[in-house]
Amino acid sequence: MTQFKKQVLLQTLYHTGLLRLFIASQRNKITILMLHGVIDPTVPSSWKPLRPQLTTGQLSQALSVLSQYYNFVSLTEATEMLAGTRPLVPNSLVLTFDDGYRNNLTFALPILRQFNAPATIFLCTGNVTEQKPFWFDRLDYAVQSMNNNSVPRHTIPELAEIDFTTRETLTRSFIAFIRKEKNKYPADIAMHSAMANLIERIEQCSGRGLKDIFANDPWSGILTWDEIQKAPPEIQFGSHGVDHSQLSLISLENAKQELTISQETIEFYTGYPCRHLSYPNGSFNDNVISLANTCNYSSAVTTHPGSNQAGDNLMTLRRFSFPRASSSARIIAAISGHFNHWQKIGTNSQ
Ligand SMILES: [Zn+2]
Repeated sequence: MTQFKKQVLLQTLYHTGLLRLFIASQRNKITILMLHGVIDPTVPSSWKPLRPQLTTGQLSQALSVLSQYYNFVSLTEATEMLAGTRPLVPNSLVLTFDDGYRNNLTFALPILRQFNAPATIFLCTGNVTEQKPFWFDRLDYAVQSMNNNSVPRHTIPELAEIDFTTRETLTRSFIAFIRKEKNKYPADIAMHSAMANLIERIEQCSGRGLKDIFANDPWSGILTWDEIQKAPPEIQFGSHGVDHSQLSLISLENAKQELTISQETIEFYTGYPCRHLSYPNGSFNDNVISLANTCNYSSAVTTHPGSNQAGDNLMTLRRFSFPRASSSARIIAAISGHFNHWQKIGTNSQ
């Protein structure tokens, strides 16, 4: 099926009410959405990450559409509904933000409030405490600084596959590079070490680093404990580990530390139990699930797309990426679970 035909089909379904029927058919399921940074493009900034960012306009538009079909609930409420300890609210929708960027409160929260939408922000407690940028943001900034400051390419041979020709080619090749590096190392510690080494060499060559602007950077800045403590009650905080380690690629002992230290730290600063976990990079296995259970987490969210229903394993909850589509039909279709099906049909028939 061509893109055009898919679009026509979606619009037809939307206007004939069939999409509403699809949503009604899923009324007993709970949909969880995954977001990261949210940025207001009108706010001045000295740089712009290559990784795509959700804008305040996209967030506002999508929530305006979603609020017509779904009921926003907190992750705690959703978990209790799934566990059968709270009556199910039909068509429940949960918003979750990974990584703990400051822009979740400065830019996203005012929009969430317009729609009475609560949210859970998953923190990496080590990054919060040390006010340390994530390696993927540091690398993004370093690669762009390298370009701006004309650092000779041959000085950093690992970046041979990065195509600096245009911003578009740079974005595409950078994202492919990150994906390749994440999958290259069997142990997470080796990946972190290789990336730290690479970033430091680039920063030495360009003479610039994200740490120079990080404190006030609207893109990469991370919430402080003070800001977390002052957050309103509709914002809950959960664990994303201590330093964004991929839990299935570290020792069980280290994974246990990631789960317990982050949980204790969040509880210390917020004063309430930290019961929700988001696996960094969606990395988990059976051992990690058992650990999360013994560490008293009541839910853990993954990056597996899909919705959830009563009886599902609360330690492997599915999430859809937050829809960035431009039309109402596509926004609804992207998280109704049917769009993937149509995409498959389209791919298979081509
Ligand atoms: Zn993350």
